Amino acid sequence: MSIITNGTSPRRRVNVCFHGVGRPRRDLEPGESRYWVSEDDFLRLLDELAEDTNGVSLSVDDGNVSDVEIVLPALLDRGMRATFFVVVDRLGRPGSLTRTDVRQLVASGMTLGNHGWTHEPWTSFDDEELEREVLEARAALSVLTGEAVRTAALPRGQYNRAVLRAARSAGYATLFTSDRQSASADSWLQARFSVHSGVTPESLSRIVRDANRLPRRVGSAMNTLRKSWS
Ligand SMILES: [Zn+2]
Repeated sequence: MSIITNGTSPRRRVNVCFHGVGRPRRDLEPGESRYWVSEDDFLRLLDELAEDTNGVSLSVDDGNVSDVEIVLPALLDRGMRATFFVVVDRLGRPGSLTRTDVRQLVASGMTLGNHGWTHEPWTSFDDEELEREVLEARAALSVLTGEAVRTAALPRGQYNRAVLRAARSAGYATLFTSDRQSASADSWLQARFSVHSGVTPESLSRIVRDANRLPRRVGSAMNTLRKSWS
């Protein structure tokens, strides 16, 4: 079997995903702390990405209060945009965004996406529960901002056939995974690279560069070995 190479086609996109920045102000889930980065590290990583934003898309998951306190002003300073994937059930809780914060993100030109009602993996739900995560959470976010929510990111990056079917039939324009490979710019299912505390500006630059060169089938094989937080 031959390996299909994609070269550096502009139709490829590298989706880079951040989570919490600075000091957490809520209890973290098991395994989550690795995906928090210090403010200094975050700013250095963002500066690296700002060097060349061509083919790179940013997202920020989980709706932590650092989204508005640190990430938003840093993005605006650099003329950058991101999609913020918010967990509805966390809104207004200590350490998480308030509803006013979410409106501020959208008013500042950022995109809002659904990251579930509860942040439990969507693979753990039956059909009725999945409806709450996929449909009701999206509706709640749309009511909050008065704008349609067209994208979702899978909590913990986990999915199966039933999850994909539910998101498809809900009409999402794009569904984001955490599969650590580049994505086709027009693909409905988009992989992302989650930044963790061990990522440096140099390694991030290399991830972006290599992802654009990574043969798709090699990337898929790597996924089975390296799952990441979302
Ligand atoms: Zn998440």
